[in-house]
Formats: sequence, structure tokens, C-alpha cells
Amino acid sequence: MDGLISLCNEIKGCKKCDLHLSRKTAVCGIGDRTAEVMIVGEAPGSNEDQTGVPFVGRSGKLLDKMLIEANLPRSRVYITNAVRCRPKIGRTPKITEIRKCTPFLSKEIETVGPVLIIPMGNSALKSIGIILKMNFGRISEAWKSIYHVNGMFILPQFHPAAILRNPKLFHIMKDRFELIRSFRDDIKNGKSMDYLGEKYGIIKI
Ligand code: SF4
Repeated sequence: MDGLISLCNEIKGCKKCDLHLSRKTAVCGIGDRTAEVMIVGEAPGSNEDQTGVPFVGRSGKLLDKMLIEANLPRSRVYITNAVRCRPKIGRTPKITEIRKCTPFLSKEIETVGPVLIIPMGNSALKSIGIILKMNFGRISEAWKSIYHVNGMFILPQFHPAAILRNPKLFHIMKDRFELIRSFRDDIKNGKSMDYLGEKYGIIKI
């Protein structure tokens, strides 16, 4: 059986943390199974919990708009979350819940093999940090950097829901997705690590 299908079956039946008590549907990752770019969100919201699809609703629409700006339609990326079951309304996932769910994300990264990972928001950043055994700090600072770790580029970004709550952040998100477009073009055109490091100020770990 396809690795991601069997992983999704495991997620759908998972009861490793109490979030399974508040879910209607556990939400699996979706998209191009060989995508160069992986987007990691926080957790399913109401629409995702109903539909079983990540990033639908207002946040999803904003993400789609930014992906188009970056010349990256949804069909060409892989989209997933730090935790797969919806927390009760208004709360973010606890670190214990993120830890328990992170092996699913780790398996997705191993299977899809992205070159560029975009963790959106603090929960996603923590989950990627657990996998890579490093502390990226808070998204409010980390969004300014591109990290090169284990052959992958990590480009943290505010979660679209945070942008919707605070529209002043919108220009940051737009600029970052424009940078993603240029960064991907440079990678595709075979630019050297020295060139990328100098142009984008990449932090190599
Ligand atoms: S959030 Fe993750 S670890 Fe917790 S029950 Fe759902 S799938 Fe399992």
C-alpha cells in the first residue's frame, strides 16, 4: 500500500492524545506526493474538521492566494499540519499534543522529500524543530530567516489565521511568498549554495 495512504489510515484511527476526543475527522496531509514544497499549518479548524481537508475556509483561501503569487498552485505543493485533530475552539495545541503527533509529520517529510518546508505559525515551527532537533524560537522572529538543515530549506512564515487577525502582517506574508518564488527559481536554475547564502542570508545548521 502507498506509504501516505497507510499513514493516513493510521492518523484516522489515532488516539495517542486527548485531541481525538474533540475531533469529527482527523485530517491527513494532501497534495503532490513528490512536492518540492511542503506547507505545515497548525491544526484543523472547524471547516477542516468537517471536511477532512487541510487549509479550507478563510485561512485556506488566503494561503491559496499567496501560493498563486509564488507561482505554486495547491496541486504542486504538499499541505499538512502539526496536529491532525481539532483542538477545542479557541485554543492552540499543547506541546505534549504536538510531540505525540509529530511522528506523522516526520514520516510525511521522509516520504515526500521536500526541498523547501514552510512551517506556518508557532505550532508548525515547534513540530519541525522536534524533527530536526533544534529550537527555531518564536515565529515573530524566525519568519525573517531561511535555515538550511539536513539538505532542506526551512522558511518559517506567519499562519494565515494570524494575518487575518492582524492585517498589518499581510505585506510581510506577501513579500515572503514573492521571496519564495525567487528562491525556488534560483534553486531550479542551479544557483550555488554560496550564491543563495549571499543573496538570501541563509543560516546553515
Ligand atoms: S492530534 Fe495527532 S496524536 Fe493526537 S489523536 Fe490526533 S492524530 Fe493522534
